[in-house]
Amino acid sequence: MKKNICPLIGKCGGCQLLHLPYEKTIEFKKQYVLECFKKEGIKASINKVIPANNYFKYRNKMIIGFKSQENRTVSGFYEENSHKIIDLEECLMHSDLQNEIAKYIKQLVKEYKIKPYDEDKKIGILRYVLIREAVKTKEILITFVTASEVFPARSDIIKKLISKFKEIKTIIQNINPRKTSIVLGEKEKVLFGKGYIEDELMGLMFKITSKSFYQINPKQTEKLYQEVIDNCKINKNEVMIDAYSGIGTIGMILSSNAKEVISVENNSQAHKAAIMNAKDNKIKNVFFVHADATDFIDEFAKEGEKIDCLVMDPPRTGSTPKFLKNVLKLSPKKVIYVSCGPDTLARDLKILLEKYQIKYLSITDMFCFTKHIESVVYLERKFN
Ligand code: SAH
Repeated sequence: MKKNICPLIGKCGGCQLLHLPYEKTIEFKKQYVLECFKKEGIKASINKVIPANNYFKYRNKMIIGFKSQENRTVSGFYEENSHKIIDLEECLMHSDLQNEIAKYIKQLVKEYKIKPYDEDKKIGILRYVLIREAVKTKEILITFVTASEVFPARSDIIKKLISKFKEIKTIIQNINPRKTSIVLGEKEKVLFGKGYIEDELMGLMFKITSKSFYQINPKQTEKLYQEVIDNCKINKNEVMIDAYSGIGTIGMILSSNAKEVISVENNSQAHKAAIMNAKDNKIKNVFFVHADATDFIDEFAKEGEKIDCLVMDPPRTGSTPKFLKNVLKLSPKKVIYVSCGPDTLARDLKILLEKYQIKYLSITDMFCFTKHIESVVYLERKFN
């Protein structure tokens, strides 16, 4: 099936499962989660699977790499398991608007002869372009990632971009001189606009900057967060921690039913955005801590503090044994683990199962046609 759906099928590293019918990709994901659990000796079954109604054009973020290959500039996505970039005209997983902007940026790069950065020779300028779309408000943020501060013709490029696309609300230059595959560097300059865009999620407004984490499939994110709300059943007498909180979405969404929320995040841009987000949404019972989640929870447990509920949503690499041991020490009644890596989820659960039992497991298909899997696990303390 779908042989002609994308010319890059099997080549591009983006959609590893595009050769399968959608229903089969869901089956693959269910089996994979169960295998990961089995490998760790954990007995569990999947209570709910939430597929996507729209499994194309769902991504709100596009990262285009620029490289000089065989003496010409190529721009697009990385090949599967390689450092090579495949020239890309259009991607099925992004909105028409993102695709149009990407095409125009490629045209401008050509027109103004902006050289891609060559990592080996250490010459050239442009490394990546990031396009972020706030899907509900239709606002666009663009980040040009350059190897140094040098960015020729930037004012012309900006002028042309904003006059063609009224949706572009801010443009940023990010300077990344490092020799790594990490897309963004430390230093940034706002070239146009306020430096952020705003999106609406479950009735609240969130500011999104170039560096802060924001879920990439907004429609499915609302369903994922609903899973957290439904399982956590937080009430006005309860205090919770939202660990690995990003720009504060989960904690803020739960805050109207909670006594107090403590949000912990180590990315400073995301932390600052979270504080602004709470202010804008007139939320007063969420406290934001800028710290490593493990260090924070260690201190918190040492001080003998108490919480009723923990929501944790670590990156794909999962949490740390020290964090998890401290969860056992703190021993909240309810733990909700939101995970984008089933193998690290199973590894981490094994530690938590000493004191907790799995009450619920669901999969939300956030990354359609890729092999990535988002799960929610609700755990309850075994002994009172
Ligand atoms: N819950 C948020 C973000 C989840 S992504 C949401 O739904 O949008 C994971 C987040 O963990 C990212 O924002 C990342 O910056 C943060 N993070 C990664 N390692 C961390 C650590 N050691 N301590 C605290 N936060 C961390």
